[in-house]
Amino acid sequence: MSAQLILHPGKERSLFKRHPWLFDTAVARLDGPARPGDTVTIHSADGRPLAKAAYSPLSKIRARVWSFDIAETIDHAFFKRRVAEAVARRAALPELAGQGEHGGLRLIHAESDGLPGIIADQYGDTVVVQLTSAGAEKWRAAIVDALAKATGCARIYERSDSEVRGLEGLEPTTGWLLGEAPEREIVIEEHGVKLAVDIVVGHKTGFYLDQRENRRLLAGLSAGKRVLNCFCYTGGFSLQALAGGAASVLSIDSSQPALQQAAANLALNPQLAAERAHDVEWRCANVFDELRRLKAAGETFDLIVLDPPKFAPSASHAERASRAYKDINLHGFKLLSPGGLLMTYSCSGGVGLDLFQKIAAAAACDAGRTARIVKRLQGSADHPVDLAFPEGEYLKGLLLQVA
Ligand code: SAH
Repeated sequence: MSAQLILHPGKERSLFKRHPWLFDTAVARLDGPARPGDTVTIHSADGRPLAKAAYSPLSKIRARVWSFDIAETIDHAFFKRRVAEAVARRAALPELAGQGEHGGLRLIHAESDGLPGIIADQYGDTVVVQLTSAGAEKWRAAIVDALAKATGCARIYERSDSEVRGLEGLEPTTGWLLGEAPEREIVIEEHGVKLAVDIVVGHKTGFYLDQRENRRLLAGLSAGKRVLNCFCYTGGFSLQALAGGAASVLSIDSSQPALQQAAANLALNPQLAAERAHDVEWRCANVFDELRRLKAAGETFDLIVLDPPKFAPSASHAERASRAYKDINLHGFKLLSPGGLLMTYSCSGGVGLDLFQKIAAAAACDAGRTARIVKRLQGSADHPVDLAFPEGEYLKGLLLQVA
C-alpha cells in the first residue's frame, strides 16, 4: 500500500484537467512513509483517489503524475509500456519513421510522453538519456531496460547533468549505463548533411534536435542569400544554409569548442567544404556585442537566424529575458537588407508566444522596420506537446520578412 498525498480542498482541479504537476502548496499532508521518488497515491480533500505520482519532498513540484488510472501499477512493466508507446508514436509518423537510425530522434519528451523527468534521444545505435526528477531517478534501471528493448540499441549513455536536478535534491551524474563508448565519433545525417554529435561534452544530449524541421526550412530559403547565423553551436543551421545554396554564411557563437566542432562538421561534408570554404566564417564572439560591431562596420545580411540559449527558465525571469530578446532582435532587424528575412526563436519556458511576438514587434518598431510574419515556428514532431501540459511548448519562433 503506497503512501497517500492528501490535497487541500479545491486543489484537485488541475489534476482533473490531467496536468501532471502537483505543487507543494496544493498538499495538505502525507499519510504514510515515502522517500524521494517513491510512488504515492494522490487523494482529494474528501478522500477520492485521483492519480499515482512520484513523490519529491524537496521540490516545489511535490509530485509528478505517472498515471491518472488509479488501478495502474507503477512497476517495470509500466515503464516498458510507456517507453514502447513513445517509440511507436514516432515510428507511426512518416516524418519521423526511421529517423533515429541515421539521424537524431527524440524518443521520450518527458511529461509530453507521459514520462515526467525523462528525456531520451537516439543517435544511431546510441541512446542518450537524461533523468531530471526523483521519480525518474528511482526507476533508472527499468527505464534503461525499456529503452534497450524498444530500440534494440546496444549503447545507452546517461547525461543527467542538467541543473534542474538540483531542485529535486539530485547530484549530477553521467556515464555509460549499457555498452561502452563507441570507437569512432557519432555522426548523424540531417537533411543530407553530416554532423558529429559529442554526447559526452556537447550541450543537452549533444545536439539540438528540436530545430530539425526549422533547419530544413532554412535550407529552402537560403539560395543566393548572405546569411548570418547567431548562436550557431555546432553549425546545424549554417550547414543547411550552405546546402541550400547561400552566397555566404557568417556564424557566431561564444563557445570555442562549439565552433571547432562546427568547422569539423563542415569538413565532414566535402561537397560543401571544398567549393564553399571562402564563403564561410566561424566567429567566436558575444552576439550582443558583435551585432553592434557589424552594424557599425556597415554590414548587411539577407537572412538572419537568432537562436539564443534559454534566457528565462521560468516566468519569474521573463522581464530580464524580454530585454535580452528585444536587444538581439532590434540589432538583427537593423542588419537586414530590404526584403530580408529574420528567423528568430525563444526556447524560454517563461516567455510565451504572445509575449515573444510583442517583443519582436517592439524591436522592429525601434529599428524603424516594418516586419510581417511569414510563418510561426515550433519544435519538431518528436518534441510533441501534450495539450494538458502547455509548459511542454517551450520552443517558439517567427519567420519575419522586413520591408
Ligand atoms: N542553433 C543551434 C543551437 C543554439 S544553442 C543549433 O541549431 O544547433 C545556443 C548557443 O548559444 C550555444 O552554442 C552557446 O554557446 C551560445 N551562446 C550563449 N550565449 C551566447 C552569447 N552571448 N553570444 C554568442 N553565443 C552565445
